[in-house]
Amino acid sequence: MHVPLTVADFLERAELVYGERVGVVDEPHQPAPPWGSLTWREVARRARAQAAALDALGVGRGERVAVVSQNAARLLTAFFGVSGWGRVLVPINFRLNAEEVGYIVAHSGASVLLVDPELDDALRSVDAPHRFVLGAGSDGVLHREDPPEPWDDPDEHATATINYTSGTTARPKGVQLTHRNIWLNAAVFGWQAGVSDRDVYLHTLPMFHCNGWGMIYAVTGMGGRHVVARKVDGGEILRRVRDHGVTLLCGAPAVVAAILDAASDWPGEVPGRGRTRIVVAGAPPPTRTIERVETELGWEFVQIYGLTETTPLLTMNRTREEYDHLTPAERAARLGRAGAPALGVRLRVDAEGELLARGNHVMEGYWRQPAETAEAIRDGWFHTGDGGVIDADNHVSILDRKKDVIISGGENVSSIEVEDCIFSHPAVAEVAVIGVPDERWGETVKALVVVAPGARVTEQEIIEHCRARLAHYKCPTSVEFRDALARTATGKLQKYLLREPYWAGRGRRVN
Ligand code: AMP
Repeated sequence: MHVPLTVADFLERAELVYGERVGVVDEPHQPAPPWGSLTWREVARRARAQAAALDALGVGRGERVAVVSQNAARLLTAFFGVSGWGRVLVPINFRLNAEEVGYIVAHSGASVLLVDPELDDALRSVDAPHRFVLGAGSDGVLHREDPPEPWDDPDEHATATINYTSGTTARPKGVQLTHRNIWLNAAVFGWQAGVSDRDVYLHTLPMFHCNGWGMIYAVTGMGGRHVVARKVDGGEILRRVRDHGVTLLCGAPAVVAAILDAASDWPGEVPGRGRTRIVVAGAPPPTRTIERVETELGWEFVQIYGLTETTPLLTMNRTREEYDHLTPAERAARLGRAGAPALGVRLRVDAEGELLARGNHVMEGYWRQPAETAEAIRDGWFHTGDGGVIDADNHVSILDRKKDVIISGGENVSSIEVEDCIFSHPAVAEVAVIGVPDERWGETVKALVVVAPGARVTEQEIIEHCRARLAHYKCPTSVEFRDALARTATGKLQKYLLREPYWAGRGRRVN
């Protein structure tokens, strides 16, 4: 028998098996009712009501519903209310400005746009055939009590979400993830991370970022509990770990750093000792940070590696019996690698040192970009753009990035996009944007600028020019002026040479 795997399965089981249990705890300042603490039955009822409202609007299967929102219970519900009935959810980074969001809404061809009330003003200019502010009205928009029309011919190869991610092109690309991609990623990730009905998951990771790495589905399918967090704040995270009995959270190394900072001021024992595990990816965390997670927090540190294009799980590194007798420092050194292939994932390194992957988590393709898709998936292998090595014990370490992308605080920044923006300043003759190591964010954006003859411009003016045009996390935090920039014979910027002085003395060229 073959029964299509769809995201509806996850919520269906939560309602069936754990219907009366609280499934989602929203932010305390969110209106309750209708939001607040919701049982799984209530979440499922709301998802059905969303689907019924989309029916009433005439939004067909396969049509896109874009949503821009900080983490919220209603956003979580949309992952099921939209995709569960055969429509495609496009969760958009809430830090983007109106122009950037507008591009994604238009490129995805979304017929519906849902906007968080806090973002409504800033995104006023972004339009779609149907535009709603989430939570407006007593029970929120997009809510109809009559049952939705069933998705008659569910297809596991249908696209469930399109997640826009910055890469090597100036504009972000839409990663098409199918129901099957999402289902298998959630099952494998959930299994390898030991997700169970006893888990309380704190959303320190933005839900838009690769669907919260799939934890949205994995935790739901097991009937665990989601605790929503709209912002990352170390002290607040620790208070929620204490108040809600959090057992599991995910984030970039910057999130771990914020937690460790807050823990050093925490009176008494840090909550979650011996109970909580934190899954980290986005950049290789410093070994010392990994050690401190064990010694100062008493939490389990788990590293994963992957991309939005791979739903994301490719590798995991978790402690194992063989590490039990090691000292925390020795264990941290083992856990500093990105990890071994996840179940069903095959990896290899090509002659240029690029890591290639094969498996059921690899995306269908880039939405409406066949050339980019063909470039990324060649001869049955997905090209990650990451430079890595695979050790004798089949563990991967990421040492370098082949693609021109900067990862700051876990979010991708396209160097080309920032270069285009700086180049639009009339005083700029040449520009190169590079990532340099940063204590807080792992990497930060630096611009190297050659000023046009006779023109004058300051570092602050360049930064302000970017901040007026780009999401702030993409903007350079420093600008250096140069007489010339290193180029190849064909005139191409030699990024590697330009970056080198800032990375000298480090074992790897990513942070
Ligand atoms: P994104 O698609 O935004 O999730 O970013 C994916 C990129 O993050 C990868 O291509 C890597 O460059 C980087 N990345 C993710 N996890 C790790 C890790 N554990 N170590 C090093 N880099 C990572």
